[in-house]
Amino acid sequence: GGFESLNLGPNVFNAIKKKGYKVPTPIQRKTMPLILSGVDVVAMARTGSGKTAAFLIPMLEKLKQHVPQGGVRALILSPTRDLAEQTLKFAKELGKFTDLRVTLLVGGDSMQEQFEELTKSPDVIIATPGRLMHLLEEVDDMSLRTVEYVVFDEADSLFGMGFAEQLHQILGQLGENRQTLLFSATLPSALAEFAKAGLREPQLVRL
Ligand code: AMP
Repeated sequence: GGFESLNLGPNVFNAIKKKGYKVPTPIQRKTMPLILSGVDVVAMARTGSGKTAAFLIPMLEKLKQHVPQGGVRALILSPTRDLAEQTLKFAKELGKFTDLRVTLLVGGDSMQEQFEELTKSPDVIIATPGRLMHLLEEVDDMSLRTVEYVVFDEADSLFGMGFAEQLHQILGQLGENRQTLLFSATLPSALAEFAKAGLREPQLVRL
């Protein structure tokens, strides 16, 4: 059940070692093989459980190489700017031996700079829902149809903070052919409904 058993390529595997992770945490042990197999997953996991690496490691392994003009390939939604920034930091560390381009789209930062980032064909977008929707409205050729991998991180907070409408709009803009993951500490009924609408026969993981 160690990181070796996941058969990761050297790029991601070496970055995990470099980060100092020796053994997977319980949530990582349960979710990573499922995610790598391609199924949708609802994971009940709190901050501190190692949940960020649990979805980043399989994502980086799947994407691995920058595809020029390939469109956005992965989207991670965070409830707050702070969480998005922390996820970006982990993504850069765990993806340091890949050439993937990761962009942060959060409120409070310059829209102009984010427009420019979007012209450099990022593979991965880490965003808060409000800013993402705003940019989708403003940038003509920006589309989420190409996204293969979507993560709703701290989904109960995403809902608790009033992003329900934006989240449903985002679901409506995603293509059919995608893997969807939802990480949440709790599963209130609004969230269970959302999972029903947005995930395909999800596997439920709890500790
Ligand atoms: P998170 O729950 O994603 O906020 O992660 C909490 C902390 O656990 C972060 O500082 C991670 O770097 C750390 N962490 C994640 N996975 C592992 C692991 N397998 N071994 C040791 N530390 C880890």
